[in-house]
Amino acid sequence: MQIPKSDWHLMPEQAQVMVDKILQIEVFRELAKREINLTGGEPSQNPHIVEIFKIFRKLTPNVRIHTNLDISSATSPRWQRLVEIMKLSGRVDFTLYPTVWESRQKALLKEILELQDELIVNMIFEKVPDLLSQIGILIAFFEERDKKYESVLSLLGAYRTKLESLLRENPECDEGAFLKHMEGSENYICTDNFTFGLNMIPGFYVDEKGERAMNAQPFPRDINFLECTIPRGTIEIVTVQQTGEITPCCDVGNLKCKPKFGNLLNDSPGEIMSQIEVSREKIVSGALKNHQNINSGKAGEWVEEGIPPYCV
Ligand code: SF4
Repeated sequence: MQIPKSDWHLMPEQAQVMVDKILQIEVFRELAKREINLTGGEPSQNPHIVEIFKIFRKLTPNVRIHTNLDISSATSPRWQRLVEIMKLSGRVDFTLYPTVWESRQKALLKEILELQDELIVNMIFEKVPDLLSQIGILIAFFEERDKKYESVLSLLGAYRTKLESLLRENPECDEGAFLKHMEGSENYICTDNFTFGLNMIPGFYVDEKGERAMNAQPFPRDINFLECTIPRGTIEIVTVQQTGEITPCCDVGNLKCKPKFGNLLNDSPGEIMSQIEVSREKIVSGALKNHQNINSGKAGEWVEEGIPPYCV
C-alpha cells in the first residue's frame, strides 16, 4: 500500500508506520515508553500534528511538543493545535527567544500555564550575561503569577544570585570558573502542583571544517566534549527524522553520529537491529580513538568511523 507523503511535513500514516515498527523493536519500544519529543522544524506548523500526537501517545503517555512559541495570536491555527494537544494532556515546552518574548511568547505562556502543570524552558545563550538576562525575563514573568509558582521563583532566584556573583567576581570567567561556581545549582523542580525545568543550551560553535555543534548540556568540559552512552552499553536517546532515518543521539544542532540505525519507515525490524549492532561497534571504536586523540594532543581530529571528534 502506498503511504501518503508530504514534501515538508510528517503525515499521520507515516507516524503510524513508525509506531508499528517501534513496537516490534524491543530497544526502541522500551526507550519510547519513557518519553517522545516531537520537535521540528516547528511541530505546530504541521497541520496534522494533533493526529500525529495521538498516534505517538499509543507508545507512552509522555509525548512532548517543543515549540518556538513564535506565534502571532491566539487565533492562529498553530496555537489552536497546541491548545488541543495540551487539552489531551500533552506537554508543550518552549524555547525562550528574548526578541519575541514581549510581542508573542509572553501572552501565550500565560495561556499554557492555564492548561498544564509542567514546563521545560529551553534557553539558548552565547555568554553568561545572555543567560542572566533570560533568567531575569522568567523571574519577572513568574513574579506576576500566583503562589503556585513560589518554588519556581526560588529556583530562578537562586540561579540568578549565583550568576550575578560569578559575573561580579569574575566578569571574563572561562568555562572552568563557570562550572566550579555553578556546581550544584538546581535547574529542575517538582512540587505537588508544578514541575519546572530549565534546559540551558550554549550557542552554536562552528569549527574550522564548518561543522556545527550544539551540546544540550550546560557548559560541557570542552566545547564539543560529550560522553556517549553507547560505548557504555546504553542507548538513551535516538532521533527519528521524518524521512524515517534513525540517528543515535540527539539531532539538535546537527550533533549527530554518522553511523546510522537504519530507516524506521523502510527497513524491517531485523534490518534495523543489525544496523544498530554495526553502528554500535563503530561508535565504540570511534570513541576509543577520540580518547586517544584527546590524550595525545590531537583533540578534534576526525576518525574514520564518522563520529564527532569529542564524543568519548
Ligand atoms: S558518538 Fe556522539 S553523536 Fe554519536 S551517539 Fe554518541 S554522543 Fe551521540
